[in-house]
Amino acid sequence: MSSPSLYAPREPIFPRRVSGYYRRLKWVILIVTLGIYYVTPWLRWDRGPNLSDQAVLVDIANRRFYFFWIEIWPHEFYFVAGLLIMAGLGLFLFTSALGRVWCGYACPQTVWTDLFILVERWIEGDRNARLRLHRSTWTLQKWRLSLTKWAIWLLISVGTGGAWVFYFADAPTLLADLMAFSAHPAAYCTIGFMTLTTFIFGGFMREQICIYACPWPRIQAAMMDEHTLIVGYRDWRGEPRGKANTSDAGDCIDCKACVNVCPMGIDIRNGSQMECITCALCIDACDDVMTRIGKPRGLIDYLALSDEPLEKAGAAPLSTWSHVLRPRNFLYTGLWGSVGLAMLAALFVRTDFEMTVSPNRNPLYVTQSDGAIRNIYEVRLRNKSGEDKMFNISLDGNQVLALEVEGAPAGSGVIVPADTTSLRRVYVTAAPQDAAASTARTEFRFLVHDPEAKEWITHDAVFHGKGT
Ligand code: SF4
Ligand code: SF4
Repeated sequence: MSSPSLYAPREPIFPRRVSGYYRRLKWVILIVTLGIYYVTPWLRWDRGPNLSDQAVLVDIANRRFYFFWIEIWPHEFYFVAGLLIMAGLGLFLFTSALGRVWCGYACPQTVWTDLFILVERWIEGDRNARLRLHRSTWTLQKWRLSLTKWAIWLLISVGTGGAWVFYFADAPTLLADLMAFSAHPAAYCTIGFMTLTTFIFGGFMREQICIYACPWPRIQAAMMDEHTLIVGYRDWRGEPRGKANTSDAGDCIDCKACVNVCPMGIDIRNGSQMECITCALCIDACDDVMTRIGKPRGLIDYLALSDEPLEKAGAAPLSTWSHVLRPRNFLYTGLWGSVGLAMLAALFVRTDFEMTVSPNRNPLYVTQSDGAIRNIYEVRLRNKSGEDKMFNISLDGNQVLALEVEGAPAGSGVIVPADTTSLRRVYVTAAPQDAAASTARTEFRFLVHDPEAKEWITHDAVFHGKGT
């Protein structure tokens, strides 16, 4: 006796065309998100002659991230971490309030699959025609339609992979290099990988990525409760399903329009299911049917489980806002806003130049031939502007200690080219007659002044005398 198979072969899904409010909303989101993705690398932003003019650029070679007027250096990675935290909290907030709204409307897997289905429908026709074609044998016509569809999918996939690499190098230059086959092999490999994944995920795997590969459907359950709005079927109104105008039948006429438009291939009338991405296309399909048979719309709708007993008892459900404006969602909004405000504050208080100081501790001090005591410090100056800068280093208000910058004559400044750092060895000395400083631990402050911008920064440090 053969053992049962643990693998169920995929049944291809051919969603039927649908129109309505949510379908239009999804088209708008598709156009906006794809537009942002493809156009962003080509936006320019003037940062001066020495810096990249690409508005959004992850410059791996120079370890910089440019986002319009913001330039993030490697030591400022906390900004990127903050953005990721905000993205996560935003996702929590939307999931808690509106269920899997990210999956249904804006997830790249959903957006590209929608685009691929649009192409498929355009080439092969609507659901029934595609079903017929799928079940038919391979004829010349089937090959012609399939090859045309795959060719367009491939073009979209190449464009997707191509757009991705433009975020990591100057887009016009990289495009010219790619066309001349002189770009770095990593660029071709990345485009190839992105092309392949887009083609397979959007063209063939589709809902399988959401069901089997994506962890989000499992995680999101922790963020949803009975007040979360999800797409649901009012079975107390629709059942028993049957033909319209049958005396004891509910409002559902079992036309299966909601099932036929579903990109996940599920029947929402069977209750809330993990596969449902809340794309709301079944709402559009059923509303259309309800309008045609003269019944109220909303047999399938955005519902909260907590409203179910109310509606079954004939009472009005709570308003949408009372489901959205809940303590839990206020908490997510508060956290999201706090991280955002903290990042904004950090962005506005940061200067165009920075200094880090590392004291040389081996040895802590050096006694010179004339009895003077010297401490050595490594001072790194960071010029984050688009112009070369000259900085003056001094000891803020200290009359006892003397300062000398290696490679910079007394009284001259240190020149740091645009968008670079400069590491300087700095000597701080206490003269032999200054017994207090020579023998004690003295706190002092480095001061770096940008005379052009009339800005300065300070850094606290400690001078070690003999025996400290
Ligand atoms: S059941 Fe409705 S909301 Fe859920 S995935 Fe299918 S069409 Fe979208
Ligand atoms: S579209 Fe509406 S009426 Fe038709 S089967 Fe689905 S729930 Fe029933």
